[in-house]
Amino acid sequence: MISSRTQLNAVIGYPLTHSKSPALHNALYKKLGINAIMRAFSQKSVARLINKIRKLNIGLTAVTMPFKQAAIPYLDKIDRQARTMDAVNTIINNHGILTGFNTDIDGIACALKNVPLKSKNVLLVGAGGAARAVAYYLKSKEAKIFYQNRTKYKAYALVKKFGGKIISAKELSKMKMHVIINATPIGMTPKTGVSPLSKYKFKKYQVVFDLVYNPRQTQLLKQAKKAGAKTISGVEMFIGQALKQVELYSGKIKNNSIKTFAGKLLAKG
Ligand code: NAP
Repeated sequence: MISSRTQLNAVIGYPLTHSKSPALHNALYKKLGINAIMRAFSQKSVARLINKIRKLNIGLTAVTMPFKQAAIPYLDKIDRQARTMDAVNTIINNHGILTGFNTDIDGIACALKNVPLKSKNVLLVGAGGAARAVAYYLKSKEAKIFYQNRTKYKAYALVKKFGGKIISAKELSKMKMHVIINATPIGMTPKTGVSPLSKYKFKKYQVVFDLVYNPRQTQLLKQAKKAGAKTISGVEMFIGQALKQVELYSGKIKNNSIKTFAGKLLAKG
């Protein structure tokens, strides 16, 4: 029950039509006996949003597109790992001190836990905040990273930071790519009929991971599945990153039954 002692938490982004964070967080708070409620706050100015966090004394803030990098200058502290990625997806308010963390990395580890990456060729499509966490993880696993992004200079920034190289569609069609990862919003609700690799011929030996979690089966995953490739939905990552957020915020330990609970909840839509 909401009372004067209920802690207000937030998800911030712009626009914020796709986020399932409030539904998942609120269900997790209830399940774990945490007296908090998450609400969505959306506007163009990240500075104003962070100001609101301070004014309303919001405890946990989930940060989504396009603010994962833009939020950093407005925070008081940045966790070491998030600093290396240069992207935050979580802000924890500790007595007015706002610290930025990146739990996307935990979600990515969760989604890719059974995928061999060492010395494998991995294509990363996109170069925004989430792609930075993916590149960080791939580098830590010694994968060979190949990038594609609409704005080339942003992909160059990732090459500089995490290694790897940019490839063209032509080069891609000729090489053996073991893993393909989409870190763009292409295919996300409401524009679900599109794919970032609409002309690409997927192979049976590939693993294709789409960070988009709404819908669960994106156009990209449907294409890959049709070719016999193994597919991983963004839902896996979404659960992993949210559980870590709740752990950072509440200190309550995640366990497998909570994971199953979150999975069932998201399966319901
Ligand atoms: P972001 O920082 O705004 O970056 C978006 C990236 O996608 C940029 O590289 C951008 O290219 C590219 N892009 C956007 N629209 C495009 C279009 N129409 N055509 C080609 N490229 C386009 O966003 P983000 O935070 O990285 O999030 C990216 C996606 O990952 C979103 O769908 C988000 O929901 C998803 N995500 C999922 C999880 C999860 O838990 N499953 C966690 C984090 C993010 P430019 O560089 O050219 O602008």
